[in-house]
Amino acid sequence: MKVLVPVKRVIDYNVKVRVKPDKTGVDLANVKMSMNPFDEISVEEAVRLKEAGTATEVVIVSIGPQQAQETIRTALAMGGDRGILIKTNETVEPLGVAKLLAKVVEEEKPDLVIVGKQAIDDDSNQTGQMLAALLDWPQGTFAYKLEKDGDSLTVTREVDGGLQTVKLALPAIITVDLRLNEPRYASLPNIMKAKKKEIAEKAPADYGVDISPRLTVVQVTEPPVRQAGEKVEDVATLVSKLKTAGVI
Ligand code: AMP
Repeated sequence: MKVLVPVKRVIDYNVKVRVKPDKTGVDLANVKMSMNPFDEISVEEAVRLKEAGTATEVVIVSIGPQQAQETIRTALAMGGDRGILIKTNETVEPLGVAKLLAKVVEEEKPDLVIVGKQAIDDDSNQTGQMLAALLDWPQGTFAYKLEKDGDSLTVTREVDGGLQTVKLALPAIITVDLRLNEPRYASLPNIMKAKKKEIAEKAPADYGVDISPRLTVVQVTEPPVRQAGEKVEDVATLVSKLKTAGVI
């Protein structure tokens, strides 16, 4: 089974994001960038499938600027076999990403695509679903557990207040949720080995895909600043204040 794993380069989740003064977006200058955390979970799952002898090859793909190559390298150091960088300096919306991934799927013919449930920069949660629709493949979203049996895949999904188990015929698309696994840290020898792994370089035009945006960002704003709290002397004062505020 061949597995394709798309990984996105995003602002590191530990960074406090700053909105640009003109409110057109967020400031990316001198900001630490990393692999989208959900994509680390996808890579981990694909590598575990390979280690278990279920997957034969794990191909990593990223759409982004030249530096997205570092993100691919990280995935290769975790155990991916080879990479594909589709290089662009434009912002590519989920539909554009899904169309490019559909072309990569046509070329690479994977049996399984493991996608993050959402990118933490745009919070779209769209790419996997759009890719499934474009390919007309079954999808198991918000995966909590994956099990392959024969030509099908049993996916336990995180749904409101519980879990749902579905069975999909391969080839299929999976989008991963937070609790599927705990991604490994790449060891130094594996980081060194990853330097020698192949990364093919492509452009959106090579696939004949139009990535021009469909949306215009009107404004990006910071969340409202929280008001300072107040300490009260005793419970009686607290109750009286809550009554005055109409809370109780
Ligand atoms: P989104 O729909 O933007 O929230 O992204 C969901 C998932 O799609 C991510 O976790 C990635 O697996 C994949 N994805 C989105 N954008 C890209 C990109 N530029 N390159 C590679 N994968 C991407």
